[in-house]
Amino acid sequence: MTSLRKNIEEMDGYLPGFQPENESEWIKLNTNENPYPPSPRVREAILNELGKDGANLRKYPDAGSRQARAAAAQVYNVDPAWVIMANGSDELLNNLIRAFVGEGEELAYVHPSYSYYATLAEIQGAKVARFTLNDEYTLADFPPRYTGKLFFLTSPNAPLGCRFTNDYICELASRCDGVLVVDEAYADFAEKTSIELVEQNENIIVTRTFSKSYSLAGMRLGLAVARPEVVAALDKIRDHYHLDRLALVAATAALADQAWLQENVAKIRKTREWFSSELRQLGYRVVPSQANFIFATPLDLDGERVYQALFERKILVRHFSDPLLKHGLRISIGTREEMEATLAAVQEIG
Ligand SMILES: *Cc1c(COP(=O)(O)O)cnc(C)c1O
Repeated sequence: MTSLRKNIEEMDGYLPGFQPENESEWIKLNTNENPYPPSPRVREAILNELGKDGANLRKYPDAGSRQARAAAAQVYNVDPAWVIMANGSDELLNNLIRAFVGEGEELAYVHPSYSYYATLAEIQGAKVARFTLNDEYTLADFPPRYTGKLFFLTSPNAPLGCRFTNDYICELASRCDGVLVVDEAYADFAEKTSIELVEQNENIIVTRTFSKSYSLAGMRLGLAVARPEVVAALDKIRDHYHLDRLALVAATAALADQAWLQENVAKIRKTREWFSSELRQLGYRVVPSQANFIFATPLDLDGERVYQALFERKILVRHFSDPLLKHGLRISIGTREEMEATLAAVQEIG
């Protein structure tokens, strides 16, 4: 079709992680989903909202997500005016670009990280810069002043799993003319978060997802903590009914059950530490992880070989062809049983 915008016609589109058809036959460790179910209060809240005859679904949801915002504000210890809910944190990444970066203007992100930032930038017609992580997990090529409009900092980083310190994040923010967005998709698995930085710094915004720590990837829920003027701008941009009634009650219920979250996070961290140390004993290099996955490199630096051999054994992990990453594998942390089976397979593969 010739009337398509040029950038849309030319772009590739984002390729999501592979979702196999007969899922139960696989050990699926490729998209960082949580191996445990969400809080039972989530199911209860959804069924309750649905009612006997689903009559509530006749009515539009609360366009302001007020209950979910209030629940989030309580968890993160901020005023509700500093919170916005979202249809997955992907929606926020998109709307942040729409809010801050005009056509032809520039945004940046850390390399390696989440390649979806670049896809969203392309749609918006924005220019993209990348700053590369070095072996000390800092950004040696980040300029003294970054004049782009927005900078995405994935912390904990995906796919490496390392976290930037709050001091370092503040320093980077002070070097940005525009906003610094800390994508904290994995922060619940880390020792520390950056949410407190939002109040302390004019230009820091933090995004979160319910897809990993809250076991709700299928519900599509995310949130951001940001200054009220940023929240107000994002409220103007979003679809007014971006969250459906079931997602809204699910979000509120999940946020209200912090004990459930903490218990699952503790199990995953414990399995992560055990699995990392076992892999190291097999000669793998494993980046110390603050997330629910690890990045592991075999002795022969051939990530693809191990990926294929695991695939043949119906174990799905993630391999990236990027030159900075192709030597290793990103492996999501599943249940202890899944990780024992994976370890046995790795041992056999050699
Ligand atoms: C999973 C992930 C997201 C997307 O989260 P959704 O809420 O599922 O859209 C965003 N950023 C990073 C770094 C992620 O890994």
